[in-house]
Amino acid sequence: MRRKLAAGNWKMNGTAEALAEVAALMQSHPEPSVDLLLCPPATLLARASEAAEGHALAIGGQDCHCAASGAHTGDISAAMLLDAGASYVILGHSERRQDHFETSAIVHDKAVAAQAAGLIAVICIGETLAQREAGDTLTVLADQLAGSLPEGCTADNTVVAYEPVWAIGTGLTATVDQIGEVHANLRAALVDRFAQGGDMRILYGGSVKAGNAAEIFGIDDVDGALVGGASLKASDFSPIVTALENA
Ligand code: PEP
Repeated sequence: MRRKLAAGNWKMNGTAEALAEVAALMQSHPEPSVDLLLCPPATLLARASEAAEGHALAIGGQDCHCAASGAHTGDISAAMLLDAGASYVILGHSERRQDHFETSAIVHDKAVAAQAAGLIAVICIGETLAQREAGDTLTVLADQLAGSLPEGCTADNTVVAYEPVWAIGTGLTATVDQIGEVHANLRAALVDRFAQGGDMRILYGGSVKAGNAAEIFGIDDVDGALVGGASLKASDFSPIVTALENA
């Protein structure tokens, strides 16, 4: 039985006053029946973790370096995230793949480091619009999945997030059929490769909001969502969490 996960990615948004949203989310969901995760910017990690103490809300980073320490100005190691109170880390988000030229090989090495440190890696994959229109979606995703997930992935240390690049922050959402096809394929690939592939969670991400969450959560093999824009305000994120609880 896979435990559902509602995950929010704040990206490069939020200063101290945004912690009020963390508090409001916890207040709306004092005892969530799904796993709940917020990934604020690194500057808020420790304060968000402190705010979430004693609550089921988990806090995660948005990236980590593959090395344990060293001369990597501006980077953060997995152990540092853990030290700041994180239990998850998002890896290979399409914005990292695009803006920072992260390849699946780099994501793989980051996942090894994250899992070794005891973090749960939320590993993102997704096709561009050009790749979808060329009919390459399933091949692209199979390659990203194979290249980004290290051998040691288990249901406890890995979550896969399918995020079509063309649906992120655009208001466009993949159709039920598109999501269903991809998630079924990803499930088959995970089962094929990993002993616990059937138990690993697969999230959908891409313009998830209150109005479409219930429909998306009704799709087979959708175990939750990775939410960007609609996770910034508790009043937007909370109905998505409720939809997942009711799915
Ligand atoms: C994301 O960045 O992971 C994401 C899904 O963003 P949005 O929900 O804003 O499309």
